[in-house]
Amino acid sequence: MIYQRSSALFTEAQKVIPGGVNSPVRAFKAVGGDPIFVKEAKGAYLYDEDGNRLIDYINSWGPMILGHAHPPVVEAVVEKAKKGTSFGMPTEIETQIAELAVSMVPNIDKIRFVNSGTEACMSAVRLARGYTQKDKIIKFAGCYHGHSDSFLIQAGSGAVTFGSPNSPGVTKGTAQDTLLAKYNDLEHVKDIISSNLEEIACIIIEPVAGNMGCIPPAKGFLEGLRALCDSHNILLVFDEVMTGFRLAKGGAQELLGVNADIVTFGKVIGGGLPVGAFAARAEIMNHLAPLGPVYQAGTLSGNPLAMAAGLAMLKELNQNSQIFDSLAKKTEYLHKGIAKALVENNITHTINRIGSMISVHFAETNVVDFDTATHGNNETFKKFFHGMLNNGIYIAPSAYETWFITEALTYEDLDTTINAVQKVAQTL
Ligand code: PMP
Repeated sequence: MIYQRSSALFTEAQKVIPGGVNSPVRAFKAVGGDPIFVKEAKGAYLYDEDGNRLIDYINSWGPMILGHAHPPVVEAVVEKAKKGTSFGMPTEIETQIAELAVSMVPNIDKIRFVNSGTEACMSAVRLARGYTQKDKIIKFAGCYHGHSDSFLIQAGSGAVTFGSPNSPGVTKGTAQDTLLAKYNDLEHVKDIISSNLEEIACIIIEPVAGNMGCIPPAKGFLEGLRALCDSHNILLVFDEVMTGFRLAKGGAQELLGVNADIVTFGKVIGGGLPVGAFAARAEIMNHLAPLGPVYQAGTLSGNPLAMAAGLAMLKELNQNSQIFDSLAKKTEYLHKGIAKALVENNITHTINRIGSMISVHFAETNVVDFDTATHGNNETFKKFFHGMLNNGIYIAPSAYETWFITEALTYEDLDTTINAVQKVAQTL
């Protein structure tokens, strides 16, 4: 495939945008080469500036559950835009999407909309601190909760890809309030709590980790966290930016049967527009301004275009709950096909999958936490990534990311993908 125009655009971009991108992982630094510039996308496909068609397994990092440019979402945005794009005043549609979200997700009474997953997680932690009147938080190595200061401590996703899981610019004071635990290691969490009794406001976790590749929670792990939180007056925050409205109507809480105290959402809840949200029981949410003392605000929060897109998306997911089964079946089909191709070619690997999230780790051992995720063979991943790209398949340009399956993918697309893996595996 030819990527001439993408490369030329990247050269221009680098003159005026740091690294040529507005979010680091897009720059292909982890895999080498120049990034692909997208011209448009429809359904399961991306069309780049060189005229190539790629089957997309990133899907804007998750939200395109129904595919790109999904007609009801596009129509809702266009109709809304004709009536004004931002008011900074209340609109009825905010209540409509809030009612729908609250009805779909277990254990939440109220929700507040923000503009990104980062904002959602940052605000959730502030709320947890304000509610419990404690300062420290526990996060897990390899989990990513956006780029707010408190979370850039052993963060996953782009942060680890670029070798800065602990970013300069985060003060020591902030860093010391974030306690770091090992994913899937309940004993470690217990130890941290015992050494910081009465000091921990919340445990924030991706209930299914997606930012060190996909790592599902071990049996009993989330239940164990729930019990620890209950006995120590700690709030459990589920970061459902990736899992929300994707693993089930009610997200990971529903699929895994564990309740969180605060839940955060990202891009899905805006149908791919810039939206995030955090939600909890009324008793917790009522601590937010203007009802309570915990301050949180945003000019563009509840923006009408984003709310229209989100409402169109959630309505469809709500009415059509067999989508989640269908997505899981497609993902299982892909898993089996990829595994067969890799085994036949003697490629050491581990595939993690849950619902419509899947990742291929080129690792010898099971991948259950950040340590085991980093033992994967990056050289093999790089070759795999470029091989897939040359065969028209676009996966995330880093070994520390998850593939997101969209309902727009047909079984023919999945077969094309599996055939590409078969071809690429012979070169690894
Ligand atoms: N939490 C999780 C689990 C994420 O995966 C991400 C980003 N992919 C974020 C938070 C941050 O979201 P955003 O990029 O919208 O700020």
